[in-house]
Amino acid sequence: MIKVSLNGYGTIGKRVANAIFLQPDMKLIGIAKTSPNYEALVAQKMGYRIFVPENSIKSFEENGIKIAGTIEDMIKESDIIVDATPNGVGAKYKEIYQKFSKKAIFQGGEKANVAEVSFSALCNYDEAVNKNYIRVVSCNTTGLLRTICTINSISKVEKVRATVVRRAADPKEVKKGPINSLVADPVSVPSHHAKDVNTVLKDLDIVSMAVIAPTTLMHIHLLNITLKSQVSKEDIINKFLETPRIVLVSRKSDITSTAEIIEVARDLGRLRNDIPEVVVFEDSIYVKDHEVFLMYGVHQESIVVPENIDAIRASMNLASREESIKMTNATLGIRS
Ligand code: NAD
Repeated sequence: MIKVSLNGYGTIGKRVANAIFLQPDMKLIGIAKTSPNYEALVAQKMGYRIFVPENSIKSFEENGIKIAGTIEDMIKESDIIVDATPNGVGAKYKEIYQKFSKKAIFQGGEKANVAEVSFSALCNYDEAVNKNYIRVVSCNTTGLLRTICTINSISKVEKVRATVVRRAADPKEVKKGPINSLVADPVSVPSHHAKDVNTVLKDLDIVSMAVIAPTTLMHIHLLNITLKSQVSKEDIINKFLETPRIVLVSRKSDITSTAEIIEVARDLGRLRNDIPEVVVFEDSIYVKDHEVFLMYGVHQESIVVPENIDAIRASMNLASREESIKMTNATLGIRS
């Protein structure tokens, strides 16, 4: 059993911790928290061992939270650490991981150079095998890469033009907006999403633009992909149907919005309403000569969770790409 710990127990961290806990080949050593807030209290209820900075032990204990040790203790006990701390904090922790010769998985909010490889399971699992430092790309980049690599497997992708409609905040965030505006963000073109895709698909011709919308549920991507050879709409639908972590929804079932997608997750009893799959609006797929158009939803809070689990297996060389994706999907109830 590989010993894994989770540093930064927030939106992404709490989901990845739960996913690690469910893996048959991994043992969750514990989670690291810096403030004794509701997330720490719930983690305690879940039975996770909680590690904190040395100078915070007293405040956690005063709030009735039992401490297993310091964050350094947790790192020393682990084979590999998943770092889901806020943007830029992971890079600072890297020095400590290196000091104790521990492997680490970082998130998309870190600069690409924090790791040896940026990662998307469907696109470049093999490149990450045995690497000490892997960065799982952001939620939007994961959605873009999963879709582009899948379409590329039926006909070579020549160029991608992407528009990203971004959720303004995660549901738990009370201080972020906008609440009544669409914001061109970044106002300049291309947005950083294209550059991030290029950390994995280095030679791809991609330009992206992004706007922020006042919603917390999901992102939506509008893609225009030019292919080397013509494919049919059916070819694309069939490829999506046989690809793990992609689902198709159709007008026939009255799903045309992110609200309805999340409602399906609620009705299915998915943990935290999570939909880690890319959710493609089947009726949006349109082919004109060598061009493909489509729209899909990305659940920002959960899409990177299975990728983190696969990144751990790649780093530790525990399984092939196919075996890892299959095991992760089966344990997390994700469509294979
Ligand atoms: P978050 O703010 O919800 O969680 C971060 C957690 O780290 C919090 O619990 C915070 O208390 C804790 N923390 C802060 N400083 C710490 C420190 N010094 N040591 C240990 N823990 C510390 O953030 P998030 O949204 O989960 O984002 C984490 C990473 O995941 C970022 O790189 C982000 O870009 C990336 N990401 C976020 C999303 C998303 O939609 N939320 C999607 C994909 C990737």
